[in-house]
Amino acid sequence: MQILVVEDDESVAAGVVEGLTRAGFQTSHVASGGAALAHVREARPEFIILDLGLPDMDGTDVCRAVRALSATPIIVVSARDEEIDRVLALELGADDYLVKPFGMRELIARIRAVARRTDDRAGDDQATSGSTTSIGPLSVDQRSRRVLLDGEEIRLTVKEFELLCYLAEDPGAVCQRSAILRAVWNGNWYGTTKTLDAHVAALRKKLGDPRWIEAIRGIGFRLDVPQ
Ligand code: CA
Repeated sequence: MQILVVEDDESVAAGVVEGLTRAGFQTSHVASGGAALAHVREARPEFIILDLGLPDMDGTDVCRAVRALSATPIIVVSARDEEIDRVLALELGADDYLVKPFGMRELIARIRAVARRTDDRAGDDQATSGSTTSIGPLSVDQRSRRVLLDGEEIRLTVKEFELLCYLAEDPGAVCQRSAILRAVWNGNWYGTTKTLDAHVAALRKKLGDPRWIEAIRGIGFRLDVPQ
């Protein structure tokens, strides 16, 4: 697997590159957001480790820009141990979040877990080949991972897409928060209820009408055509 490490701190970068190489990954390193985007465009890495504190661009902007270019799994790395960053990073389409300082063992375990999850996703997509769910003007194609609303494609992050798929499995039914977190975030530590709210808000915005996803107080959410 080819991994791109985006990190401006040379000593941190050297340690990460060395550790990943020793673990058998092919690793490239860039030290700025601009170089990261150029690398993603040209070299199409299979995995990205992204430091949030970069000299030229904010890491969250880099994350958003990478997501607009590709679905490559991203683990965000940051010295900021605040939930707001975590939520923001995941909302912007990162697949996991790691706080500095971290050990190589932990980073590699996270990379493998995210890669496994992404592979499973690909496998599931094949198993349900041709499965398009239509809810009024909204159509969700799990195989191609495309979402159309009134025939127009909507671009979603990986988690927004998974959340939408989960809600779309049974339109009109109320989905419990805990069940959504388990299914979409695998019950992992970062699958907080705030993360879920942030994703619901982002999804509502992209669907252009907040009534698509109704909040059921104390229980969860339901997806249905706005009436
Ligand atoms: Ca940095």
